[in-house]
Amino acid sequence: MGNNPNRNEELKVFISNRESECGECGENLGLQAWITLAGEKGALCLACADLDHLIFLPAGDMALTRRARKHSTLSAVVLKWSRARKRYERQGILVEERALETAEDECLADSDLRERRREREAVRREELDQQYVQEFAERVRELFPGCPAGRENIIAEHACLKYSGRIGRSSSAKSLDETAVRLAVIAHIRHRETDYDHLLAKGFERHEARKAVESQVSRVINRWLTLNT
Ligand SMILES: [Zn+2]
Repeated sequence: MGNNPNRNEELKVFISNRESECGECGENLGLQAWITLAGEKGALCLACADLDHLIFLPAGDMALTRRARKHSTLSAVVLKWSRARKRYERQGILVEERALETAEDECLADSDLRERRREREAVRREELDQQYVQEFAERVRELFPGCPAGRENIIAEHACLKYSGRIGRSSSAKSLDETAVRLAVIAHIRHRETDYDHLLAKGFERHEARKAVESQVSRVINRWLTLNT
């Protein structure tokens, strides 16, 4: 590790202006997809780039943007090419939802923020197939009985959003099989229980960062596999 020239630079997400395909999962992302650029692999979808747990905060409110970024372990700037001006323009940032909420609480003198948060949550509820979320959550609980209370819902919602066509993905087969559930749980543990996001924020490549947190992840998995008494 250690010689990535991009380290400590801001992560960038581009809104593509042509048809693109993910260099990792191969999915056709269509026009206007949100992508990262990863060397010789070309474009990556946000799910493959491990940025799909972040939410978009449009540019416009500088105080909120600054605070949200400060509270977010991992954040990325969203850029779009302007044909008229022939340069990339900032559209906003991607941040952790918890960071955005903390920032909103700090800015709450602005009463529009509560309203915007309510709207965001309503949109998400609409996007989610509630039946699928519930079944997925039950499956997480069944396979990982030691998982802390409530996490099964967070994991299930995220997995479901992924299949719902958000972030420019076409819908994949919805699956409740053990592998799909396990992968969703591992991704959640990486982001929430390890230093993974810190490492990505510092500019580590995903494979380096995954390797670095591998043993942390398996310790947590082992704890979650059994019901704590
Ligand atoms: Zn992909």
